Amino acid sequence: MNVTMLGSGCWEGTPAPFCSCRICSIASKDHNSIEYRSRPELFVSTEEGKFLIEISPDIRTQSTRYNLPPVTDFIVSHWHFDHMFGLYELHAWIELVIKSKVNIYCSVAAKEMLDRQFGFIPTNIIVIKAYKPFELHGVKITPIPVYHMSSIDKDKTPYNLNNTFGYILEDSNNKIAYLADYYEVPEQSLELIEDAEIVIADGTYLFEERYPDKPYQNATHEEKDPDHLHGDSIIKFTNSLNNARIIYHSITHLPEQEHAELQALLPEGHEIGFDGMKVT
Ligand SMILES: [Zn+2]
Ligand SMILES: [Zn+2]
Repeated sequence: MNVTMLGSGCWEGTPAPFCSCRICSIASKDHNSIEYRSRPELFVSTEEGKFLIEISPDIRTQSTRYNLPPVTDFIVSHWHFDHMFGLYELHAWIELVIKSKVNIYCSVAAKEMLDRQFGFIPTNIIVIKAYKPFELHGVKITPIPVYHMSSIDKDKTPYNLNNTFGYILEDSNNKIAYLADYYEVPEQSLELIEDAEIVIADGTYLFEERYPDKPYQNATHEEKDPDHLHGDSIIKFTNSLNNARIIYHSITHLPEQEHAELQALLPEGHEIGFDGMKVT
């Protein structure tokens, strides 16, 4: 399977709204710059077909920039804006161009949000279950639950977690783990990613100690976003995985440092993702 990271940015993307920082200025001037980061999206293609993981709010520009063939199968990790709300962008295409439903594979919690917010868009929603593999276009996909929405998830067992899934993607050549957003990955899920050669991991707050003079910098631990890991605890977690390659997604402009500068701060085997990155 061929996996391409189409979106490497965090929830606001780079350039971010109303931001004129050093990084957003570079990205605004040149949308082909490596500093330009759209919201999360992975494109998977095999000899049998193709699908997207996430429905990024940037799906419109990603599909045209990368000249994607029409894709009607989507796998969603969770119902947060930056991972699913690009479905609004596809409405006219679904309704007026292909005139048939698109397939969305997701958790029961994501289905509830789709029913509530997107009921007018023709979709065929397939609810998938934790640790129950399914096959799509020759790829075996195993949903692995992660803890991400602390207020809802914290008292749940891994088998009852139904908000956020990471995914293991396997075929005869590759085994890749995509971890979407999380603050904790349960042991049962960790066991399944042990022999993956690549782990795509959350880098939202990877460099938060470098944010220059941003209000967030002086936040106490309690004030910080409890739905993600922060700073060194991210590296501690990914180092504990012992996988050959770690690729970070959801990179933010906030440290105001260029891709190469951020990359130089990471241990060997760890990579900052970028838009258009060929993962396999
Ligand atoms: Zn900025
Ligand atoms: Zn999220």
